[in-house]
Amino acid sequence: MAKETFEFQAETKQLLDLMVHSIYTNHEIFLRELISNASDAIDKLHYESLTNNDLLEGDTAFEIHLTPDEDKHTLTISDNGIGMNKDELMQNLGTIAKSGTKAFLEKLKEAQEGGSVDKDLIGQFGVGFYSAFMIADTVTVVTRKAGEREAYKWESAGDGQYTLETCEKPKHGTTIILTLGKEFYGGETEENYTDKYLLESLVKKYSDYIRYPITMDFTTKEKPKDADGKVIEDAPEEEHTETRTLNSMQPLWTRNKSDIKPEEYREFFQHQFYEWDEPMEIFHSRVEGNVEYTSLLFIPGSAPFNLYYADYEPGVQLYSRHVFIMDKCKDLLPDYLRFVKGLVDSPDLSLNISRELLQQSRELKLIGRNLEKNILKTLARKLDKEREAYEKFWAEYGKSLKIGVYSGMMTGENNVDKLKDLLLFMSSKDGKLCTLKEYVGRMKDGQEKIYYATGKDKAAIDALPQMEMLRDRDIEVLCMTDPVDEFAVEAIREYDGKKFHSISRGDLDLEDEEFKEEKKKNEDLAKSNEGLLKDMKELLDGKVVDVRLSNRLKSGAVCLVADAAGPSLAMEQAFAAADN
Ligand code: ADP
Ligand code: MG
Repeated sequence: MAKETFEFQAETKQLLDLMVHSIYTNHEIFLRELISNASDAIDKLHYESLTNNDLLEGDTAFEIHLTPDEDKHTLTISDNGIGMNKDELMQNLGTIAKSGTKAFLEKLKEAQEGGSVDKDLIGQFGVGFYSAFMIADTVTVVTRKAGEREAYKWESAGDGQYTLETCEKPKHGTTIILTLGKEFYGGETEENYTDKYLLESLVKKYSDYIRYPITMDFTTKEKPKDADGKVIEDAPEEEHTETRTLNSMQPLWTRNKSDIKPEEYREFFQHQFYEWDEPMEIFHSRVEGNVEYTSLLFIPGSAPFNLYYADYEPGVQLYSRHVFIMDKCKDLLPDYLRFVKGLVDSPDLSLNISRELLQQSRELKLIGRNLEKNILKTLARKLDKEREAYEKFWAEYGKSLKIGVYSGMMTGENNVDKLKDLLLFMSSKDGKLCTLKEYVGRMKDGQEKIYYATGKDKAAIDALPQMEMLRDRDIEVLCMTDPVDEFAVEAIREYDGKKFHSISRGDLDLEDEEFKEEKKKNEDLAKSNEGLLKDMKELLDGKVVDVRLSNRLKSGAVCLVADAAGPSLAMEQAFAAADN
């Protein structure tokens, strides 16, 4: 194939431009990104080779090798991973598909529109392959896909175009040659990416846990020694080359909790899962017993904007004996924990079975149930002991739990019992959040029901005519301002033997004497005014189901209520919104 020239996709150009004219100072992360890609590529080959051993082409010593060249001002990173064919090259290095990169661009745009560009933004993202253009004038990728014959050379100066041609490459995998920009190979600045000791320290800093050896050749010059071990002073120096592995290769999650620093967890979380916040909660546990596993799960600091949309992909990574199996296994944790990120590593998960079978495996279910239990326990403890932190969690993920309570009804899981004590609702009294237990604990003597009202916010609920009587009696009402609140309550039905009662629905049945008296008076009044009510109903025919005298009003003359048996007004509004 003769050399061909292609244009990058528009978004890629935009990103490249940013990289090339980077105002960021944290250039060094390019190495982490390229090493991480190399490691991913080896993971993929390893996984594929389990069912097709020929792909390895006899080469089983996985490795990522760094070769700095001071004279040519290049840094070469090569791996013996899966490699890429022509289509994949064009797809992967010509367009932006990966969420990390997209999220980065979005965040960047946001920051620019807000007038400030957070200098550290780039360091917080997995910005991927294109970060190489921060330090390289030209990036050359030579790659051959394992099991295929043709190798390709991809090259770009980051100026909007790249070239592609066929080439020779005996070993499968990918070699990336960075022709360093002049600030990046020594001289005026500290940043010399041909300096082996700098490279070694960067590998230790960012890529220590990578599971494959990251190697580099170190050459020493020494005068030879004689048979007694004495240096022969007048002999010329001899060169010795030694290949050293720079990383400890211990995945973070296999290390002891007590040896892991908070910033190591954070760095791992952000990089592994394309997050930019701090994690809100970290669950790291090792379990031996019925089933053996290590899990490292995180609750991200904030919910992604698309958490409840169809394009959000929940799920955790699966590993078996530290070998990657799959990225987003959504069958491990229940859907109401869709915001949890992380990984599970278990020797009991079989590498050799299909993903479909794996997802149904008994071991996976067992692990999932354990993890779910643990997460719920932690949340309950947080609610109990760190109320403020729990409310922060609730603000981000409460909706997910409420949906879980409700959707459990349809999927046959009993999420009500698991989740009812973790729910928070806003109190009409002080606008603060309270649990159902707290509400019930504060109920007035003789109060039999849990009263709630639906509305767009607390002010709207306070203004409901029905609220007046309850306020007079100092009865607390739960304000349901989120449309899913009411669905959750529908599913719970009762708490501690107390039924939920919507004050916007049917008749407001209060239990005290005063109320009963008024009610009786009303009934008598209704009887004597039967004719009037009938006329009104006829007048409003088709618009209302019934016209009744009510004792739920104090200063308002009329109020609209939902039929006790039908959906509430808020639910009707929610349904109407969903239909549109
Ligand atoms: P990400 O790693 O988040 O997918 P990158 O920009 O880092 O995004 O890389 C883009 C894609 O290019 C990768 O998903 C992968 O398909 C491909 N790629 C990059 N480096 C390599 C490599 N060394 N070997 C094989 N494929 C690679
Ligand atoms: Mg990457």
